[in-house]
This record gives sequence, C-alpha cells and structure tokens, in this order.
Amino acid sequence: MSYASAAMIFDLHSHTLCSDGSLAPPALIARAIDSGVDVLAITDHDTLDAYEGLSLAQGRLQLVAGIEFSTQWQSTGIHVLGLNVDLDSDAVQAGVRYQTEARRARARRIGEILGKMGIPDAFAGAAALAQGDYIGRPHFARYLVNSGKARSIEDAFRKFVGDGKAGDVKQHWADLPQVVQWIRDAGGIAVLAHPLKYKLTRTKLKRLLADFVHVGGQGLEVVSGQQNPQQTAGMGQLCEQLNLLASCGSDFHAPDTRWAELGAFAPLPARVTPVWERFS
Ligand code: AMP
Ligand code: MN
Ligand code: MN
Ligand code: MN
Repeated sequence: MSYASAAMIFDLHSHTLCSDGSLAPPALIARAIDSGVDVLAITDHDTLDAYEGLSLAQGRLQLVAGIEFSTQWQSTGIHVLGLNVDLDSDAVQAGVRYQTEARRARARRIGEILGKMGIPDAFAGAAALAQGDYIGRPHFARYLVNSGKARSIEDAFRKFVGDGKAGDVKQHWADLPQVVQWIRDAGGIAVLAHPLKYKLTRTKLKRLLADFVHVGGQGLEVVSGQQNPQQTAGMGQLCEQLNLLASCGSDFHAPDTRWAELGAFAPLPARVTPVWERFS
C-alpha cells in the first residue's frame, strides 16, 4: 500500500458492534467517509469478525486490517493493536480463538465475583446482552444498570468493573509476548494502544515500553482521541526516544459518547515516523 499525501487522515483505532462499538461495519465506514477519514483500521477487541465479507477497498476509503488484543503487564490490563495483519494468517486466527475462550472464562469469573458481592445472575445477564462472541465489561456494566445496582454505565465502571475494581479480571488473557507474536506472525505491526489510559508514571510507562520492545513491539499510539498538546508532545518524545513507529486513532465506539469522533484528533508530531510508512 502506498499513500499519496501527507494531508490524508488516518484513523487507526475504531470499534464496531462485533465488539463493544454500536455501529455495524458498513455504518462505521460510511461515518468515517463522512468525517473525511481516508484510511481506517477497524480494531475490535480480540476479534476480526468485522472483516467477514468486507473488502479492504471501500471507494475513497482504504481499510487497514486490525485488531485490539487484551493482555496484562504486571498488574495493569493493557491493549495492543495489531495493524495491517493478514486476515488469513493462522497465527492471528489462533489468537482470536484463544482470546475468545479467555473472554468466556473471564466473564464467568466476573459473574462469580459479582455474585459474592450480592449481585446474582450477572454472567447470564451479561451473556444475554452480548451479541456474538464478544462478552466484556460493557455488558456487565449494562446489566448492573438494568438491575438497579448502578445508576449509569460510568457508575457501574466506577464501582464494579472499572480498572482496579473487583470485576476487572485480567488473568485470563494471553501474555504480552504471545499477543505480539500473533501480530508479527500475521505480518502486522504491534502498537501499544492509548498509553495514557493506564495511568502509569512516566518511569513505569518506559518500563512497559522497554518490555514491549523486547518482545517485538514496534509502535506507540502517540495520539489517542482527544488529548492535550502536552500529552501529545510527551508521547511523541517517548516514541522518538525509543525509536518506535507512531500511530493515531480515535478509539471510536459509538456516536455521542465519551470517545472521540472518527478522525477527530490532533495530527502526529512532525518528528515521529508514522506507522503507515511500514505498511506493505
Ligand atoms: P473488556 O474488553 O471487557 O476489558 O472491556 C473494556 C472496554 O470497556 C473498553 O474497551 C471500553 O470500551 C469500556 N470501558 C472501559 N472503561 C469504561 C468506562 N469508565 N465507561 C464506559 N466504558 C468503559
Ligand atoms: Mn472498548
Ligand atoms: Mn483499548
Ligand atoms: Mn479500543
């Protein structure tokens, strides 16, 4: 793939209803085109279902095949994007199968934990809200709201399933070396997603990135949705220092939510190397 113009808009992180987004793939693509996006990666959590029957050439929009794998580093749940993966690769498909099983086991565990906290039937409740293979904390949050245990989705995350809370179960995921391996074996580029979301100190984030690079990680999501110019500059510096490729994306999930609109984020800092220069 070659990209003609520096003015093109790349949004390399987005979700459909194949994971926890609200739009079907064609509707997401139509919205991206309306928003002026030229190159879009659909990166659903631990699944490639969105790409079923989908051509990567979508008129004036080019799709880049991607995925967002869940994993863990020390006690922090982290996300690794696989960009420009070969959808037919056995490695990435094995990864999806593994993570899908992990999700189910994890969901049962979350149900047990919530049960002990006096919230019965949460697994069945969340499973009933899940559409396909993807079952995740957003479904538990909705169940908690529907059953009157939380006032809103935000409240459910804050009290029960958000990062560091009882329902934040991370132990089932494949480990970091494994998810990076799946991505690399599928010819993709492994990018650490939304580095500022983990609330790590700069020292810890550097340690995470050193470990990530050690196991084959290649990129950093320098711009993730709405962030302030200092944050972008800081992530740009880190990216340069560690010789990583730079990525950017909205992490769009649904219209009118806390996430950024498709394509609506700051440009990458001038000195970094954009990850798409390595797409082949
Ligand atoms: P899971 O894949 O089951 O770990 O669920 C994680 C997903 O939950 C994230 O990708 C977000 O889409 C969503 N999420 C995380 N924190 C919040 C929050 N505070 N409010 C709403 N959604 C959230
Ligand atoms: Mn999500
Ligand atoms: Mn994520
Ligand atoms: Mn995401």
